[in-house]
Amino acid sequence: MLEEKRNDMRRAAVVGWPVSHSLSPLIHRAWAEREGIAARYDAIEVEPDDEAFRKRIKELQDEGYSGVNVTIPHKERALKYADKASDAAKTIGAANMLTFGDEGVIAANSDATAFRSIVLHLPRRPETALVLGAGGAARGVLWALTKRIDPVRVVLTNRTRARAEEIASIACADVVDWTSRNTALREADLVINATSLGMTGQPPLDLDHDRLKEGAVVIDIVYAPLETPLLKAARARELRAIDGLEMLMRQAVPGYLAWLGTRADVDADLRARLEAALKARAA
Ligand code: NAP
Repeated sequence: MLEEKRNDMRRAAVVGWPVSHSLSPLIHRAWAEREGIAARYDAIEVEPDDEAFRKRIKELQDEGYSGVNVTIPHKERALKYADKASDAAKTIGAANMLTFGDEGVIAANSDATAFRSIVLHLPRRPETALVLGAGGAARGVLWALTKRIDPVRVVLTNRTRARAEEIASIACADVVDWTSRNTALREADLVINATSLGMTGQPPLDLDHDRLKEGAVVIDIVYAPLETPLLKAARARELRAIDGLEMLMRQAVPGYLAWLGTRADVDADLRARLEAALKARAA
């Protein structure tokens, strides 16, 4: 019965609470359409409760889903649910992918591997990286920074200093007070906003952009709006600015490959579709 369902159509989903804002269905459906495969990618709301999560994930397995992306607030719960986990997911303490297979449920963190691929492709070696934030996304950023062959000195700052101290060991980071962030900015040749500041509906990220170092690369993982004031300031200074869509598009690649199709391209066509969706939402 289960085999029959599996053969029927490839199925995957994103699970969150709320989940209607997720751009993952758009990405996966665009790739499936491009490949011309019979695939389905749903957005499924699951309330923030261990038992509700366990029950729904089990049902999805029984219904023939190959795996799910997991978004807020279930990323830590997903790791606990899994039978096995990738190195990144274990180090970070959270997973955004669950793959259902004969050997059980495998957790992975493709947010972190997506950020690693950005960091590995930087044009120049950064000596000092300043990471703003100490939430789930910042953990992945720290993990990714340790994956460069050439070591990067990492400076970490967060409004709640204790949270930064809790995660600093992931990248042997030096923690500085949030009030010292502008001083730290002067030294950084890679600046990463991993807070939710600057996102639509959130307060702005208050940074003295004039202190951005000559030649610095600036990454903002916030993608709504796409051009945050930080990226705008970086571009005005002719600095390399990388927006949150880069990470968002790349994090979807492993899930699509594992559950639905072949290796998908992160390209201008996909970016254009996502930009249009973000624009339509903002209107
Ligand atoms: P999170 O776990 O809730 O962490 C939020 C972070 O923002 C914490 O460091 C928090 O500091 C800080 N913050 C919130 N309000 C603040 C304020 N008023 N002043 C100073 N700091 C404040 O969230 P997350 O999961 O890490 O996500 C962070 C952002 O990354 C979100 O905008 C999310 O959409 C984005 N994201 C993007 C991608 C992508 O693919 N591009 C992937 C994942 C996440 P405290 O510790 O002091 O509260």
